[in-house]
Amino acid sequence: MNVVFARPWMDEAEEQAAVRAIRSGWVTQGPEVDAFEREFADYTGAAHACAVSSATTALHLAMKAIGIRPGDEVITVSHSFLATANCIRYMDAIPVFVDIEPLTYNLDPRQLQGAITPKTKAILCVHQIGMPCNLADILDVARRHNLKVVEDAAPAIGSEILWNGRWEKIGRAHADIACFSFHARKIITTGDGGMITTNNPEYDAQFRRWRCHGMSMSSDARHGAKTVTFEEYVELGYNYRLTDIQAAIGRAQLKKVEEIVRRRRDLAERYHRRLSDIAGLGLPREPEWARSNWQSYCVLLPESADQLTIMQRMLDQGVPTRRGVHTSHMEPAYQIEPWQCAGNRSICGCPPRRCRCLPVSEKARLYGLLLPIHSHLTYAEQDEVCRVLAQSLHNG
Ligand SMILES: *Cc1c(COP(=O)(O)O)cnc(C)c1O
Repeated sequence: MNVVFARPWMDEAEEQAAVRAIRSGWVTQGPEVDAFEREFADYTGAAHACAVSSATTALHLAMKAIGIRPGDEVITVSHSFLATANCIRYMDAIPVFVDIEPLTYNLDPRQLQGAITPKTKAILCVHQIGMPCNLADILDVARRHNLKVVEDAAPAIGSEILWNGRWEKIGRAHADIACFSFHARKIITTGDGGMITTNNPEYDAQFRRWRCHGMSMSSDARHGAKTVTFEEYVELGYNYRLTDIQAAIGRAQLKKVEEIVRRRRDLAERYHRRLSDIAGLGLPREPEWARSNWQSYCVLLPESADQLTIMQRMLDQGVPTRRGVHTSHMEPAYQIEPWQCAGNRSICGCPPRRCRCLPVSEKARLYGLLLPIHSHLTYAEQDEVCRVLAQSLHNG
């Protein structure tokens, strides 16, 4: 049996969607993008959704919109894909890393108070691998200190949070701005791609200008105009657009999202049942106020186990895995890029690549193990993953 780690669910629907865009003669940002944005806004319940080329570019524009300036501090987690901290560095601002809580493996709201200084402008929280962070408590601290909150919701399409007694989708823009990814490893994909949701019309208007070189009107609006119109470039912008081919595929994917999330929830529940009797293995759990989309299923290996050894043993038996979520501060790039750890306030003087202020993040990085989970994974394959994991641990 050869198990696949991750695989997007695409079929004739996506093929036909791409063909439709190609045959229309309009392939860059145009009517398919408009429709995809409306459908995505409907799905999340946000007032506005603006499509961009990736979650990374979405995060960059989010930082710009909330007015992050050089030298500002933005509190975030090291425990994330590097793009989270990078978008703060794009603004020449300083990422201030706080640790995660062991319940959700997301930003620990109790650490915020001690991390805030007069230079703090915003909090960038992450719904890592689809597990919602404790947004209610984070917003509570942020509002008291007049800080903006951006959600890195890159992997969290379809995740839900209990909000005033109702289950709501992540991206309804509970905070100021939420950024999503359509990379192939995420819940739905357009190859690469991203979406920014917000309830603030001014932010949304800015995103639309910035993604298209700072242009005063969109290309399709100019194209459709009955009178000759010249565009203007009103400010510095970028080319951060999604194409109409990608958006057409994204619309087909969005029709599948509920089924994709349902299957992942089913597989996560099965993993939980089948792995719960392996001694020393940490299993992910949802708090009562969160429903994950299970973009990844991350177990925590016992500290006696070596991550690389277990992964190799599993691969030798045909089961590919991935190591746990990155920690930005342990990557070489962050030996160069300035950052701060909330615990000791200066540019971190801890030993290279380790930081005594972030023990939970480092533990998750060193002992986390992502197991295969995707729409095509069969129960038989999943049972094999469980068997091979148990065996690999016991042969230690
Ligand atoms: C995937 C991911 C990103 C980057 O998304 P891209 O669309 O590839 O730019 C950023 N943050 C988190 C938490 C992610 O999982």
